[in-house]
Amino acid sequence: DEITIVTVGSHTSLHILKGAKLEGFSTAVITTRDRDVPYKRFGVADKFIYVDKFSDISNDDIQQQLRDMNAIIVPHGSFIAYCGLDNVESSFKVPMFGNRKILRWEAERDLEGKILGESGLRLPKKLAKPEDIKGPSMVKFPGARGGRGYFVCASKEEFDAKVADFIKKGVLTESDVPNAHIEEYVVGTNYCIHYFYSPLYNRVELMGMDRRYESNIDGFVRIPAKDQMEIELNPSYVITGNFPIVIRESLLPQVFDMGDKLVDKAKDLVNPGMIGPFCLQSLCNENLELVVFEMSARIDGGTNTFMNGSPYSFLYHGENLSMGQRIAKEIKMALELGMEDKILY
Ligand code: ATP
Repeated sequence: DEITIVTVGSHTSLHILKGAKLEGFSTAVITTRDRDVPYKRFGVADKFIYVDKFSDISNDDIQQQLRDMNAIIVPHGSFIAYCGLDNVESSFKVPMFGNRKILRWEAERDLEGKILGESGLRLPKKLAKPEDIKGPSMVKFPGARGGRGYFVCASKEEFDAKVADFIKKGVLTESDVPNAHIEEYVVGTNYCIHYFYSPLYNRVELMGMDRRYESNIDGFVRIPAKDQMEIELNPSYVITGNFPIVIRESLLPQVFDMGDKLVDKAKDLVNPGMIGPFCLQSLCNENLELVVFEMSARIDGGTNTFMNGSPYSFLYHGENLSMGQRIAKEIKMALELGMEDKILY
């Protein structure tokens, strides 16, 4: 029977759907009436599944519709946010590409720290309490999604002053303060590294890299320093876009080693491990060490920088391969070999 590759129209759906079409699959997009424009204009979806609101995607009638079309879901960040992590883990009964159980490991900071730490990756040093702040530090509050409510400070006094200011402005409440996550501020260059683990080939592939374009910080740094001092503006780190990037070639052994280590550890900790796309968000310090401040255990938004292939994905087969098409290739091969159980969960 014909398989349909489906995802929610958002995040990375353009190349997920385009890639599926290029591999000969039929495609469908789940969307609301007011958000269907890109999928119509770019023509990447054969079918449209309309919902009144995105949180309806976990409803029984939508799930039934998906099963009726032999859907394989490719979950991305927005799919998981709209469906709800609990639903994705247990009550969304449609075949999905990748390991659903690993998604919680990126969503919860303790689990994320555990898997990255046990993999032996370099992480920003974590500080237990504000009194330990001795140099540039980044303070993150739970739920401060998109980095709004993050701040940088270099002492306990500065921490207290900034927290007080955020409370006054209503960005934080008193009860948030004990939940502050404080870590070393890594001064370095940003590389978000997009990998694909193929269970069929049993190998980790380097698919592409991006760096982030964040508001308002990337605008803030265009203001001359003396003017920055005068205007009272809090930086935020809300992602608005991405730039493609390549890393100096001598750092590639480190890049592959990091991906391999995480994939090995994930097999131990969250059977069947990291299947398909994942991303390590890193900063390269002056000693040329890649320090990982965040992971995505599924396709990351930065893969949109290589919808028509990246310098790295090109190297494998001389094709302009996107992450979406790479996923579709793995699904196609698994279906041909009768090995769906290695990639669908
Ligand atoms: P996302 O939407 O990407 O998941 P988020 O809200 O979880 O964002 P992070 O990705 O953790 O936030 O951080 C946002 C930004 O803050 C990063 O892109 C980076 O610019 C900066 N940042 C985070 N941690 C550090 C650190 N330890 N040192 C320096 N900069 C950092």
